[in-house]
Amino acid sequence: MDHSIRPESTPGEVRAADNDRRYRSSLEWESKFFRDTAALVERTSAAMNLDPNIIQRLLTPQRALVVSCPVRMDNGAVRNMIGYRVQHNNARGPFKGGIRYHEDVNLGEVSALSMLMSFKCGVAGIPLGGAKGGIRVDPRQLSSQEKQRLTRRYTVEILDFIGAESDIPAPDMGTDAETMAWLMDTYSEMKGHTVPSVVTGKPLNLGGSKGRTEATGFGVAHTIAAAAEHLGIELPNKRVAIQGFGNVGSYAARKLSSMGMKVISVSDVNGGIHNPDGLDINHLLKYVAIRGSVQGYPRADTLSNEELLLLDTDVLVPAALGGVIDAHVAQRLKCRILAEGANGPVTAEGNDVLVQRQDDIFVVPDVLANAGGVIVSYFEWVQGLQSFFWNLEEINERLFRILQEAFNECINFKNKFHTDMRSAALMLGIHRVSEAMLARGLFP
Ligand code: NAD
Repeated sequence: MDHSIRPESTPGEVRAADNDRRYRSSLEWESKFFRDTAALVERTSAAMNLDPNIIQRLLTPQRALVVSCPVRMDNGAVRNMIGYRVQHNNARGPFKGGIRYHEDVNLGEVSALSMLMSFKCGVAGIPLGGAKGGIRVDPRQLSSQEKQRLTRRYTVEILDFIGAESDIPAPDMGTDAETMAWLMDTYSEMKGHTVPSVVTGKPLNLGGSKGRTEATGFGVAHTIAAAAEHLGIELPNKRVAIQGFGNVGSYAARKLSSMGMKVISVSDVNGGIHNPDGLDINHLLKYVAIRGSVQGYPRADTLSNEELLLLDTDVLVPAALGGVIDAHVAQRLKCRILAEGANGPVTAEGNDVLVQRQDDIFVVPDVLANAGGVIVSYFEWVQGLQSFFWNLEEINERLFRILQEAFNECINFKNKFHTDMRSAALMLGIHRVSEAMLARGLFP
């Protein structure tokens, strides 16, 4: 059977579409984000003339676990919260993926994110599979003690699913190094010995890697630089707007401003701020460290999250939630480069518009733009298994080299198959995952 990548549709595409229709009639993963992601993967795989059996397997996670976590709140009441761990594909290596705490987390979202992780690891060329986890809770409503109790209970509930050789969680929205320390401690207590490599994104004094905290944001900045070079754009003094000023957004802002760009607007869940002359990012970071939000920052005007997306700017970085760029927003975007710090910031309808507008707007898709996080997580995992740690220069040099190679490879796919950047990146990821599946064969 021919598994090579071909640009034109073939009977394989038709077969794949049939499989997918059957698949989509199952309700387990029902959510718009999952349907959109699966449909895109299906279209891309079919255009590659992949074996329909492989496509069918890629369109559904290998395993999904739903748990309920009863937690004693500070006021004495017990609250039950629902959590998930979804493992999409481990053909290339152990499952890997972040854990999200957010009030909208659901099985469909976590499953879609796990699927993107498989292909992100494929794009980066690292020997890991795709997974994702999460708990449906607004972490801002929890005290630190409540968050710790919830994390420990969730860890016990997913204990048999995770492990240093099987499935390695990391931080995502609403979780951080402290959360990973609690998870690692709980796992280690249950196993009776310390297992640092069960998570990445840990604090440095527990075997975390230098450069991990900033890796995703810095990686986003690096892919923007690669895109600018590809387009012949000089970055100094060019304007950038960033939605979300958490881990990814704030480190991207730091790096881009150190590269001479003007960060003219940033936002968080409370809304955005705007200064057309450029924000002083170091000053803003100090303000946010005290106030907990960009809101009220004195050296800027205010604007809404949607207004931020529509600013006339050279580079736009969505670095918060998924699904913020629908067809209506995509039609009105005024940026030259769209670099997706967030996972899934563009809906399927938004993507259709962006494909039409690809000569105006160069998209660096999520599986490429934010891959820096999982790349340095991979470094952390390798360093932990060897108990031998690298310095920051080695880490950043390796990170940027891998991202640059991934960017170049995506451009090669884009040119070879006359397609858009998102499809090219997915093709690369799917190609690498499916090659591993075919090489391993079907068990039993
Ligand atoms: P975070 O929790 O550190 O920050 C999230 C930011 O988004 C905060 O500023 C928050 O106020 C803002 N936000 C939340 N809801 C919002 C809303 N409705 N409108 C506007 N802003 C809102 O999370 P993070 O780790 O920076 O993750 C951000 C995105 O990047 C997510 O999509 C995540 O999946 C993706 N990502 C993160 C990593 C990582 O290493 N942390 C890696 C890859 C991708």
